[in-house]
Amino acid sequence: MPSLQNPPQKMMFQLSLRRRGISDQAVLRAMEDVPRDMFVEPADRADAYRDIALGIACGQTISQPFVVAYMTEQLGLQKSHRVLEIGTGSGYQAAVLSRLCSHVVTIERYRTLADRARSRLAQLGYDNVEVMLGDGFDVPAGAGAFDRIIVTAAMEQIPDALAQRLGPEGVLIAPVGPLHSVQTLVRLVRTETGFERKQLVDVRFVPALPGLAREL
Ligand code: SAH
Repeated sequence: MPSLQNPPQKMMFQLSLRRRGISDQAVLRAMEDVPRDMFVEPADRADAYRDIALGIACGQTISQPFVVAYMTEQLGLQKSHRVLEIGTGSGYQAAVLSRLCSHVVTIERYRTLADRARSRLAQLGYDNVEVMLGDGFDVPAGAGAFDRIIVTAAMEQIPDALAQRLGPEGVLIAPVGPLHSVQTLVRLVRTETGFERKQLVDVRFVPALPGLAREL
């Protein structure tokens, strides 16, 4: 697989994640393993290892690497976990998650993005990721319970129906706040009696919108 594995660039990439406080070795290794240059638009390959969000098809974005690493670290993944992602986009976050758990289900409302991510992930050998065309506000009941849920699009609030998809002691992370401005990452932990809620850092995500996208 031709990949821009420019060593100095990749070394700087790892270094900047460490400097910004990512310390989980397994997360750093996953970030090192997944070739971000294969998930960005071909014209952006030279910028793939800069710590910036980049545009992808359908007016969406691939998140900034620091935010991907930070959210992944905050999930506290274990090898046995079944993970749900809302907002497949390029499939990059799903690929990073897949290195650290047993199975990832990722849902995307644009058919073009879902199809591209599915074939890219298959081509790169991420065979424990399932890409579904669907609406993250309406996850099919048959999908079952998840140990971890990560939402990578901004929501005004976390839908109760989504939080209810967490298994015992499950963790959900989502950017919560105004759709077109700055949101706060919220971490929900399922307890015996309900949910514990903690606010993490400020972030900026594209909005989560209900229903399948009308355009392709
Ligand atoms: N995690 C992605 C980036 C996500 S950008 C990556 O690693 O590249 C946010 C994505 O969420 C967009 O692709 C957008 O179309 C999708 N999205 C927005 N609302 C959604 C919804 N209700 N259900 C599923 N996907 C949604």
